[in-house]
Amino acid sequence: TSENFTPEELDVEKKLRPLSFEDFTGQEQVLENLQIFVQAANQRDEALDHTLFHGPPGLGKTTLAHILASELSVGIKVTSGPVLDKPGDLAGLLTNLEERDVLFIDEIHRLSPIVEEYLYSAMEDYKIDIMIESGPNARTVQINLNPFTLVGATTRSGLLTAPMRARFGIQSRLQYYNTELLTTIVQRSSTILNVPISMEAAVEIAGRSRGTPRIANALLRRVRDFAQIKGNGSIDIKIARFSLEALHVDAHGLDEMDNKILTTLIEKFKGGPVGITTLATAVSESAETIEEVYEPFLIQQGFIMRTPRGREVTELAYKHLGKIKGPTQGG
Ligand code: ADP
Repeated sequence: TSENFTPEELDVEKKLRPLSFEDFTGQEQVLENLQIFVQAANQRDEALDHTLFHGPPGLGKTTLAHILASELSVGIKVTSGPVLDKPGDLAGLLTNLEERDVLFIDEIHRLSPIVEEYLYSAMEDYKIDIMIESGPNARTVQINLNPFTLVGATTRSGLLTAPMRARFGIQSRLQYYNTELLTTIVQRSSTILNVPISMEAAVEIAGRSRGTPRIANALLRRVRDFAQIKGNGSIDIKIARFSLEALHVDAHGLDEMDNKILTTLIEKFKGGPVGITTLATAVSESAETIEEVYEPFLIQQGFIMRTPRGREVTELAYKHLGKIKGPTQGG
């Protein structure tokens, strides 16, 4: 999950990535369990069970996959669902795995059904069938793989097929981070980026990061630019507020699309309820992205509710946007 980044930004992303359990902030329950499973696998000298991480983008799924490999002292190969479109591509990756290695598949809910099916026997018995030669001599041979750990990440566990999900012995859901945890992350990142930041400014950035470490780090980088050009290089509360204002990040950390969704619900649909497809069309965004990226946070923060008849805004959303709730529709 690193679309839309320039090469320099990708570099910074990598630099900011925690490398060990110790270095990782938050997700305490998830981490505690993983540490036990890793320790046990290490003691038995076995591959860790296949592991699935699910949750909204930017919460640390990729980071945890790398940490697992590092804590298991093994190599990691990285790919993603949409990239693997032929069983042959997957076979190449699988046969190159060394004992106990990690194979990380991002967006695993987007694997094609053929590739997915092919993966089953690899996950289950560490065996795959490969086709050799072609024409009249074509035949399949079964080959043994080294025991390995598949780590899958998905923003939509609901879209994963049941047989796929059943093959993951370990399944962890990542949660949005609270402001306190994000403050720690912002402070850690500032140290790595070598930019001084006041406590107040760190809290301000953290509180406006949509509960997401990736956003916290991205905002920090932008605020650093403002501090460098408009200030003296260090980040205080004044420069933080000024920058966040200029970036159109509001007090709750809602971004433009979040606000557009709320405004549209209120202005075009009298607050709802409205179906996801209708809403998606009205805000010109795909229903999938709304469900994966925007809605979970808006629900968690109490701005919208999911009802059997569709999405509905709450009083809090009216208050946040400074709007008056009109008379509700009869029915
Ligand atoms: P995902 O795979 O869930 O989309 P990533 O693992 O790519 O998210 O995380 C995005 C960025 O956020 C990473 O580069 C990392 O710097 C940062 N990050 C994520 N989780 C944490 C954490 N718990 N502590 C510190 N930084 C984190």
